[in-house]
Amino acid sequence: MRSLSLVLAISAHALCLALSSPYAVAADAPPLPRYQLETQLDPAARTLDARAVVKLPPAMAGQAVEFLLAAPLAMVESEPRAERLPADAAAGFSGINGSSQAMTRSGRAARYRVQLAPGSAQFALHYKGRIDFGFETPGQEYARGFNETAGVIKEDGVYLAGSTLWYPYLGDTLFTFELTAQSPEGWQLISPGNGTARDAAGKTHWRSDAPLDELHIVGGPLTRYARAAGAVTAEVYLRKPDDALAAKYLEATARNLEMYRSLIGTYPYEKFALVENFWETGYGMPSFTLLGPQIIRFPFILTSSYPHEILHNWWGNGVFVDYASGNWCEGLTAYLADHLYKEQQDQGAEYRRDTLKKYRDFVREARDFP
Ligand SMILES: [Zn+2]
Repeated sequence: MRSLSLVLAISAHALCLALSSPYAVAADAPPLPRYQLETQLDPAARTLDARAVVKLPPAMAGQAVEFLLAAPLAMVESEPRAERLPADAAAGFSGINGSSQAMTRSGRAARYRVQLAPGSAQFALHYKGRIDFGFETPGQEYARGFNETAGVIKEDGVYLAGSTLWYPYLGDTLFTFELTAQSPEGWQLISPGNGTARDAAGKTHWRSDAPLDELHIVGGPLTRYARAAGAVTAEVYLRKPDDALAAKYLEATARNLEMYRSLIGTYPYEKFALVENFWETGYGMPSFTLLGPQIIRFPFILTSSYPHEILHNWWGNGVFVDYASGNWCEGLTAYLADHLYKEQQDQGAEYRRDTLKKYRDFVREARDFP
């Protein structure tokens, strides 16, 4: 996964890579692909049933388009017809980003080609199958022993990411989307952007007209808490009701959104949500953060990792990182979150000293990186 924000369970330091993005593109920018998605999850059967309409920029009309989809998903219908390419074809897919590389390498990605009709720049798919890629402990230093999955649907909850390939992956491009999902009984489903995790009819609606580079669905049997934070709704989703804990996060959300709005500029979404995950994670996505049950109960998180995750909506998820040339957003986010909070507690000098110490301990000629 190419963006993973991480909370260290033992120290107060956040160490993370932001997942994805918002903010409108310039008016003269070329149009972006748009996904219209309708999904249905069956936690008991661990299956996804999805209909996708993909609207591509007009310049793509009449061309052949290729995309990747998780191999366990079977194509039920497609218009125009999507042809599944030979099993090893996914490896040669161009424009692939980090989050999908592992799926491709492990043979869990299927490659398709669709020939668009003359004058048409869209295609429609209906596909379904089991999403249960299991958990593994990654070797990367930033993961600190947290388990990762390429995607899972189970009775505890759902985690679908760009790396799951649960929607037709077009390559390393930004896009916009709208999603309607049938929520399983008692479930709340959260995605980036604006919308509702569960309406009165049990449906989930999310959309973003600001560009994203990855689309998540997370959630499960959760209790929702909310309050107004200026023009934004602060939301908390907990696996077990806990009014006191929810109140702390709602307050911290409102306080941080206001602080960063005045320091940097407008927050780009209508909500920011803390979502309690069903295993330990420290992920930051556009307009929400997905944190594990232990992590959200460490009191220091509220003034360390939590503001850090909120700030990633500007740096990393608002202004994007080109990971091929390094990751500038962590430094700026650490400076305006981790460092700023320490400075407000008169511990700025200690923070800078410790940071320089870590740098000197780690960086050697061959170990430096941008
Ligand atoms: Zn970070």
